[in-house]
Amino acid sequence: MAISTRTAQALRTLPKTELHLHIEGTLEPELALRLAERNGVTLPFDGLDDLRSRYHFADLQSFLDLYYQLMSVLRTREDFADLMFAYLTHAHEDGVRRAEIFFDPQVHMNNGLDYNLVLDGLQDGIARGRDAYGIDAALILSVVRDLPVESAQALLDAAAPRASELLAIGLDSAEVGYPPELFEQVYERAAGMGLHLVAHAGEEGPAEYIRQALDVLHVERIDHGVRIVDDPALVQRVAAEGIGLTVCPLSNLRLQVVDDVANVPIRQLLDAGVRVTVNSDDPAYFGGYIARNYTALAETGLPVTALATIAGNSIEACFAPEEGKAAMRAELERWKTEYADLLV
Ligand SMILES: [Zn+2]
Repeated sequence: MAISTRTAQALRTLPKTELHLHIEGTLEPELALRLAERNGVTLPFDGLDDLRSRYHFADLQSFLDLYYQLMSVLRTREDFADLMFAYLTHAHEDGVRRAEIFFDPQVHMNNGLDYNLVLDGLQDGIARGRDAYGIDAALILSVVRDLPVESAQALLDAAAPRASELLAIGLDSAEVGYPPELFEQVYERAAGMGLHLVAHAGEEGPAEYIRQALDVLHVERIDHGVRIVDDPALVQRVAAEGIGLTVCPLSNLRLQVVDDVANVPIRQLLDAGVRVTVNSDDPAYFGGYIARNYTALAETGLPVTALATIAGNSIEACFAPEEGKAAMRAELERWKTEYADLLV
């Protein structure tokens, strides 16, 4: 169903956090081609239209193939700063007050880049975003799970000297066949470095992977996690423990995890009391930034009240210090007063 202009505006300005966003997944085709030219990287595409036509994916793997190929255009500190600032500009326009952002250093290191160059560039972009918009952002070191575990340990070696600049560790990429338990030691070590713990689980993989992420990796938040609905006892447990789920509706649609946004089990999870949040994952590839994910759910008939609950969940599930959360809660209350007519 169509939603009103006022509802769309309300959902855009709704104070929210974004907790599931891969910075590499914000690489728009235009920026990819511009960086390729700036860096003298040759891509096997015949211009913008040809590149755009490749953005139709049959599954997670076919997406990842293009995703990794395009990452080769990122070469300099400035490239990473530009990429980050472009994302934070979109996020600010979409009402994001704080973003907890994944980055995949193993891929950049495999492309011959130094870990510190990547981190410096992303930090530059975050500083630019803070200055321009007052937006708060922090980085999640993401482990590519289909690379060998030794590669993840080497990543921690590289990250350790500047661990205090990182918020958390995460686990992403091709899920099936790479269960969380493979990374038990990696997560133990990251916890010892003072990092928060999150992991992708239950996107294409089974609910059992969610259980492992909780019991073996001791994660504080589950990324995606939609397959949890196959395991009612686990739904109950996650609700009782207040574990956040970072669900990404348009990603689920594009990667054919669901055949319709209406079938992302948001309502079911909210009804069960799960701290479900809505996020954009890889927005350049999946058809929209975070506000578009919220409006796509509104178009399925999900009430604005439920979407405001989701925004509130995103504030509670983030790792901001308490005073930051309190400020966001106050903003959300002001928003509810302004849009009281939509909250019926
Ligand atoms: Zn993801």
